[in-house]
Amino acid sequence: MERLKVLVTDPVDEAFLERVKPQVDVEVALKLSEDELVERVAGFDVLVVRSRTKVTRRVLEAAKRLKAVIRAGVGVDNIDVEAAAERGITVVNTPREPAQSVAELTIAFALCLARRIPYLDRSMKGGLWLKGEMGLELRGRVMGLVGLGAIGSAVARLAKAFGMKVLAYDPYVPEERARELGVELVSLDDLLKSSDFLSIHVPLTPETKGLIGREELSKMKDGSFLINTSRGGIVDEEALLEALRSGKLAGAALDVYLKEPPPPDHPLLKLDNVICTPHVGGSTVDAQLRIALAMADDLLRIARGEEPMNRVRP
Ligand code: NAD
Repeated sequence: MERLKVLVTDPVDEAFLERVKPQVDVEVALKLSEDELVERVAGFDVLVVRSRTKVTRRVLEAAKRLKAVIRAGVGVDNIDVEAAAERGITVVNTPREPAQSVAELTIAFALCLARRIPYLDRSMKGGLWLKGEMGLELRGRVMGLVGLGAIGSAVARLAKAFGMKVLAYDPYVPEERARELGVELVSLDDLLKSSDFLSIHVPLTPETKGLIGREELSKMKDGSFLINTSRGGIVDEEALLEALRSGKLAGAALDVYLKEPPPPDHPLLKLDNVICTPHVGGSTVDAQLRIALAMADDLLRIARGEEPMNRVRP
């Protein structure tokens, strides 16, 4: 059988390359522009990407022999899944592998917001000794989850371990699943009104774009916190800025932005009560190894003509 030709256009863990190289031909070409990708993609059977490469309709139209696109990670908003389906191109991701890492970052954010750790660290290194600063405990407070999928569920487990009450808004999740996790399903309005920490764990879709806008932020509890580790664009950044400046929200922690990287003069980066990380939710050695092995397994399944484990449907 002819060996598959695989083009990797974003950095992937060595473990992936080690596992697949004996069985497929791999070429790595990073930082391609859309035009460069359109030019090169025609000769390959499989394209392997993370979130940087945009697999647009134009790219897929040029990909004459492409069988599959493999996405290292979860969100497939950088891949035109509809256009791929029209061409019979399989899209595969690694839906479970980053969940624990993103959930741990979420809880780290909650602790940092509650105790103002980044702010106190900065102020002490600047020569201040703000001993009078009062923080909050997580125990007894309400963690509100928008989305109770793989990551939302992992956050729920950790938050419960801290003694938090966990509520979630997710119209697609069965009541039984929420009950197993000890999570109460509520409407979005009730979630906004009741949460001390509102944490977003939905994919970016036409339905979730701008889901947390000015009106939703105005319904949140005074002095509450917002955490977004899902995708920029789900939370309206302008409206968030206003809510933080007015004191409506006590703070926010963000791993994702409308534009990545955000411009260095972005006003959210200037606020003391905002904690920012550069989209590193799934960036742990543990998650990356799991992702690499899951992708390799699915690539080898495709090479053998078998059904991949993690096919994404439009
Ligand atoms: P998932 O598919 O397991 O869960 C998403 C949940 O959102 C599902 O339960 C779904 O029912 C729910 N949902 C969908 N539309 C909704 C809506 N309109 N209102 C309420 N709920 C809705 O995905 P996941 O693994 O939990 O990941 C969630 C998102 O986190 C991903 O789509 C991705 O964008 C993001 N993510 C970020 C990082 C990072 O590095 N920061 C890493 C991995 C994933």
